[in-house]
Amino acid sequence: MTRITAIEITHHRLPLDPPFKASWDGRARGHFDATIVRVRDDEGREGIGSGDLMKGFEGHEDLFIGEDPRHLERHYEVLSHINFHYGRCWPLDLALWDLSGKITGEPVWRMLGGRSDRVRLYASSGVLREPSAMADQAEHYIDEGFPAMKVRFSSSAGGRTSWRDDVKAVEAIRARVGDRMELMVDCNQGWRMPWDTTLPWTFKDALAVAKELERLGVYWMEEPLFRSDRKGMQALKEATSVRIAGGEMTRELYEFRDIIEERAFDVIQPDVALVGGITGCRRLVYQAREAGVMFTPHSWTNGIGVLANAHLTAGAGDAPFLEYPYDNPEWSETRRDYPMASSLRHSQGWLELGDAPGLGVVLDEERLCATRIG
Ligand SMILES: [Mg+2]
Repeated sequence: MTRITAIEITHHRLPLDPPFKASWDGRARGHFDATIVRVRDDEGREGIGSGDLMKGFEGHEDLFIGEDPRHLERHYEVLSHINFHYGRCWPLDLALWDLSGKITGEPVWRMLGGRSDRVRLYASSGVLREPSAMADQAEHYIDEGFPAMKVRFSSSAGGRTSWRDDVKAVEAIRARVGDRMELMVDCNQGWRMPWDTTLPWTFKDALAVAKELERLGVYWMEEPLFRSDRKGMQALKEATSVRIAGGEMTRELYEFRDIIEERAFDVIQPDVALVGGITGCRRLVYQAREAGVMFTPHSWTNGIGVLANAHLTAGAGDAPFLEYPYDNPEWSETRRDYPMASSLRHSQGWLELGDAPGLGVVLDEERLCATRIG
């Protein structure tokens, strides 16, 4: 039997010059942090995960050492208890899937059911640009082969002063691209950075925005209300033909169970690197499908998180497209994937997962040395 012999966690910081002004963050970001989790077995193999900071994991290594890495459901139980008491340590679940794939010689998408070895992507923008510049960016995405893009509304942080300005950006894009691409809008009302005390929209605000998005043929409206307002989400869903999406930071799988049962959202977006790992989110794929709810993960971490979400979506899911954080030049594939030896590259809006065992992550050890902190 193969046994886990070590778990190593390192933290890294890439300076961002020029800084990245994310629409959902009032403070420009001067650096991009990544936590890398490695789990090793007694035959010298190493599984890799990334995502959250692994706060609260220290001192729990012994719960995994000596265990078979392939006992993924057992490890999921332990991680869910750590999640209950401390932080979200799901990157270890990703690393265990990667290691299990390396032991069995199979890519994770195939271990998860093997529906497909690739996923269609939507380009997920992060910067608030002037309407004409947003339309230019949409054209670039079309030229690169993306079937869809996500546009941000300013929430509290950006340069735009009201949602009416945000609607103008969507109008400019739609006028330029016509029906050549699907558009999604992320309202980001479900969460805030710790320093941001702006109140989320009321139901009436959200409804007024939804009517505008309906007019513009928007595919989904993401996080239109505060995350706890499931009744509001449901009422909004009934009041508009635009799909309502959310749940990227919903922490407990039983909350998702209720969301699915109540049909509070049309689209759920758990991120395997932040919530439940691959093992937990796999349950949600099946629950959602049976309820007619779309499952398509949030993936705004680094390339390792994108890959992990892509393996689940390809192997078990059936979403029409998966989030691909990508907004040149501010959020390039090179910046996003700096822990990796080579950045992920989409191919005409597809991410091909191939036959490499596990998640197929190769780390850039030199860069990880140079960016190490703590
Ligand atoms: Mg979002």
